[in-house]
Amino acid sequence: MGECTFCVVGMTGLSLAIVIITVTMMLMLYYQRVAHDAKLKGMKEEAAQVDIQAALDTTRKLPFPFHLVKAKDFREMGELIEHEELREQGMLKSLDMLTEVRDFAIKHDMIFFSHQWTSFNGNPDHTKRQYRAMCQALEHLIKENGWDEEEVYCFADYSSIPQRCKEMQSLAINAIPTFVSSVQAFVAVVPEVLHAHTQALCNGDSYLMRLWCRTEVVCHMLANGTSRMFIADEKGTRPMERAHLMEHNVLHMFKNSRSTCCRLKHKNMALCDRRRLIAPVLGMYAFIHANSDRSDLEDIIQDINRDAEDIFPRTFEYCCVDEDDVETTRTVSLFENLKFKMEEYIDTHDNTRYALSRSLKLTKQETKRTQARPISATTKEGRDLWASVMGSAVIASDQQHKLKDGKKKSGEGKKAFNLFGSGGGGDPGWRRRRARRGRGSPAAPVGLLG
Ligand SMILES: [Zn+2]
Repeated sequence: MGECTFCVVGMTGLSLAIVIITVTMMLMLYYQRVAHDAKLKGMKEEAAQVDIQAALDTTRKLPFPFHLVKAKDFREMGELIEHEELREQGMLKSLDMLTEVRDFAIKHDMIFFSHQWTSFNGNPDHTKRQYRAMCQALEHLIKENGWDEEEVYCFADYSSIPQRCKEMQSLAINAIPTFVSSVQAFVAVVPEVLHAHTQALCNGDSYLMRLWCRTEVVCHMLANGTSRMFIADEKGTRPMERAHLMEHNVLHMFKNSRSTCCRLKHKNMALCDRRRLIAPVLGMYAFIHANSDRSDLEDIIQDINRDAEDIFPRTFEYCCVDEDDVETTRTVSLFENLKFKMEEYIDTHDNTRYALSRSLKLTKQETKRTQARPISATTKEGRDLWASVMGSAVIASDQQHKLKDGKKKSGEGKKAFNLFGSGGGGDPGWRRRRARRGRGSPAAPVGLLG
């Protein structure tokens, strides 16, 4: 009897101990899980804040100088010429700061040529058809707008973006959305061309399927509307209709779009272009959200909110091939909830919202001025208007204009604004020198913009 009681008590104690140990372990695991989740949440929140600041940075500064070719020189090139070669010949105008770009836009007209590369060997336009369409569009825009050719500058990726140094190229590519939203005219260059290596037809439809082409279109459209967007092909230059862009779902930049990096399965590449575009695209959205009370943005905001999941996909399927040619595909983060986080940030930071709304208003005023062309920055009225919209930062640069204007009167003005060194309009001997040297350009890296 005594032994039996002892046995029952022993068994009960053991069971109780097992239960206590089990419950304790479960509680420990639960708290570990909670702590892990909290840590993960904190890390995600931290990463989101880094992404938001990176996006806002794209609205405040240029990650790389803006390089342009004077219209007259662009037409004389005969074909698209590599950035480094133009740089060596002193043929590039460089703008280092965002305020400098805006300041330059007062006196000059900038055209952004957007196109798809038609080969993989570093020659973006092996048939020269795209270059010819660019020249024809250039002539059309100068004539239609009554622009002074001396004041017109062109941006084309092969000429404006470093081709030889990958690191510099990467910085310049990150700046493209900022460049494209700053120019006075956007031209999608889409003559029909067979791709030199894939034999695929490159035309207007394929253009609107490219990740980078869509991004360029959207960044210009969000900042400036479609009134200064054009299509150039063998039929001539004509306006780009908003309805046409919407039919092709251009706002869905990341969905079903094609990019060279994804086609090459990111072999030996550090980053997919989709991830590279998070900051500039989110930065552009920051502009739109900060101005969401404006009636002229009502339509685009409705479009964005309706298709938010497609415009800012949370994740994407990332396919990569390693050095041993082993292919893996996994789901990786893209925007996650960054659209919401950006809205939250802007709504709770008055200074940021104010700065962003001022920037967009400035762009609109610039647009009006450029289209109507009634006010010149060389007049007092123009300078006053500019100073009123830009504030003190530009008043300081306005003083420089006054200085330059002063120099002009004394005969030194042209020199002060001579962008290409002696002689103006470029070194007349540069083409001869180039012809003597031959193209001589090393094989450019595979274009990431294709
Ligand atoms: Zn990719």
